[in-house]
Amino acid sequence: MKVLVINAGSSSLKYQLIDIEGEKLLAKGLCERIGFEDSVHKYAKSDGFCTESILSLHNHVEAIDAMLRLLSNEETGVIKAMDEIKAIGHRVVHGGEAFNQSIIIDDNVLDTLRQCIDLAPIHNPANIMGIEACRQELPGIPMIAVFDTAFHQTMPPKAFMYALPYELYKKYGIRKYGFHGTSHKFVMKRAACMLGRPAEELKLVSCHLGNGASICAIENGKSVDTSMGFTPLSGLAMGTRSGTIDPALISFIMEKEEMSIEETTAFLNRKSGVLGLSGISSDFRDLLKASGNGNVRAKLAIDVFAYRVKKYVSEYIGVMNGVDAIIFTAGIGENNSLVRKLVTDNMEFFGIKCDCEKNKSDTGVEMDISTDDSPVKILVIPTNEEMEIALEVKRVLNV
Ligand code: AMP
Repeated sequence: MKVLVINAGSSSLKYQLIDIEGEKLLAKGLCERIGFEDSVHKYAKSDGFCTESILSLHNHVEAIDAMLRLLSNEETGVIKAMDEIKAIGHRVVHGGEAFNQSIIIDDNVLDTLRQCIDLAPIHNPANIMGIEACRQELPGIPMIAVFDTAFHQTMPPKAFMYALPYELYKKYGIRKYGFHGTSHKFVMKRAACMLGRPAEELKLVSCHLGNGASICAIENGKSVDTSMGFTPLSGLAMGTRSGTIDPALISFIMEKEEMSIEETTAFLNRKSGVLGLSGISSDFRDLLKASGNGNVRAKLAIDVFAYRVKKYVSEYIGVMNGVDAIIFTAGIGENNSLVRKLVTDNMEFFGIKCDCEKNKSDTGVEMDISTDDSPVKILVIPTNEEMEIALEVKRVLNV
């Protein structure tokens, strides 16, 4: 069964066509600069064929159309007819409290998604555009919404409530929601396979360390706490996001730097994190290079990043009264052995012992980098959010 996975942004559309039986990627693509005259469409098949074209895609409907043409074209395609696509999985960033799991999309679900726009004003409208474009171009094919927030809906109130007047939770839904749930769930399942034990028996700390980064405490297969909050701005220091700061700093910075609310929000989201600290880049490859060349601020940025990860890992071990494995995933978690070392060094008290030699081999595949006698396993697991979305489609449709 072939499942199309769609991740729609405000001016972009990422897609993958997955054969769900063999859990095999058939083709994938990315349309960027939708709405501009010089949109870019990149496309690749699993056999290595790839192509890139500049065209003008005025909206998401035209992007879906361009995608379908490539997917079904005799030369470039992987399907002969559209009816080979049996279902579509949509990544939806925010499901609020309305959705604690993936769901078949109908008019009621779309209405509820629109009601969640306040909670994710940039992402949810784009996700809805992707859903509407697919409805128009591929009518009659079942569509499933898979939420970044759903996995964290199992958090207990003591973890998700902020210490603010309770009425604000009731009035505006102010609480911690958490994100990256699809990724945390995927690596949780892989970790269970690697450890040869059911997820329902495990205590895990999952570190999704990419440009956006979050940590999740997973107990018995369920998220019990996570570092992102009401928005994806809180928690860890990230590529360009500040992560958690003293809330009083916001008015202080606004006053001193004479910035508006919008400017300050953009400042915390786009100019802070390791980019702001280093003054060099949000990309860890650049920071590693600069730090290696003696740049003190690049080193500081890496140290701040890793120190925060270490603090969350320790906190969540306390919350769960133990841990079976620490998982590292996403761009930095999968590829950056220095960050993994900085996080896991001096954690013997918790039974965490990293094997330096194993840690050095960045192979891009699943590996256990703990020493043979380490009571807690340290796992590097490449995430695959698109595959998790396709698996969710399969589960929800029960096929
Ligand atoms: P993501 O958001 O998951 O794509 O992760 C992006 C981050 O991963 C960036 O900071 C990259 O510098 C980092 N990254 C990706 N590949 C590598 C690599 N081979 N070595 C070090 N960092 C990497």
